[in-house]
Amino acid sequence: MKVLAVAAHPDDEVLGAGATLARHAREGHSVEIVICAQGLLSRERTADEVTQLLKLKDDAREAARRLGARPPTFLDFPDNAMDSVPLLDVVKRIEAAIAESRPEIVYTHHPGDLNVDHQVTARAVLTACRPLPGAGVRAIHAWETLSSTEWAPPSLTAPFLPNHFVDVESTLGSKLGALACYAGELRPFPHPRSPEAVRHLAGLRGATAGFAAAEAFVTLRSTWR
Ligand SMILES: [Zn+2]
Repeated sequence: MKVLAVAAHPDDEVLGAGATLARHAREGHSVEIVICAQGLLSRERTADEVTQLLKLKDDAREAARRLGARPPTFLDFPDNAMDSVPLLDVVKRIEAAIAESRPEIVYTHHPGDLNVDHQVTARAVLTACRPLPGAGVRAIHAWETLSSTEWAPPSLTAPFLPNHFVDVESTLGSKLGALACYAGELRPFPHPRSPEAVRHLAGLRGATAGFAAAEAFVTLRSTWR
């Protein structure tokens, strides 16, 4: 089986579905990752910023390796400004990635997130995965991204109401190991972007489904041919 994770920023793929991706890899599935935006806000590309961007890509490669995934594909859209890019441009790049990797399951952001890049990424994935005759994608699951999904007001966008739970007791350690690659993006607890908060959320999602630890998703579409 082949699975694809489409993240807006480097680290979202780990926060959202890291343990699930690690479980796919452990079960022998091919795991590919696409990262849409650069992950670093910038207007002028100083030498220092270029160095930071390169480091972030190295961090993402090492995180993918720790999950058992292939090295990520970077689309390099502008950070926190993906709404300034025509949606069709984003869709075409994701369509190309899907045509190349031919996944059966696609993981991506929740369309109701606070972060605009997350919203654009989710919308572009849904468009790229239109269920046309012969399409290979049979399920799209939206993950939750701590510090974006839970910060979105329910009255403004669709709330995150998970209906798909993956038992990740055996791979939560891999997720935390991959998250450690992004040390520069982490903050001390009780910031949601902390290893403790990630562990707490996995415990709560697990308890919801009868597991010791889980990652939770909203299934955006599921088909059985
Ligand atoms: Zn993000």
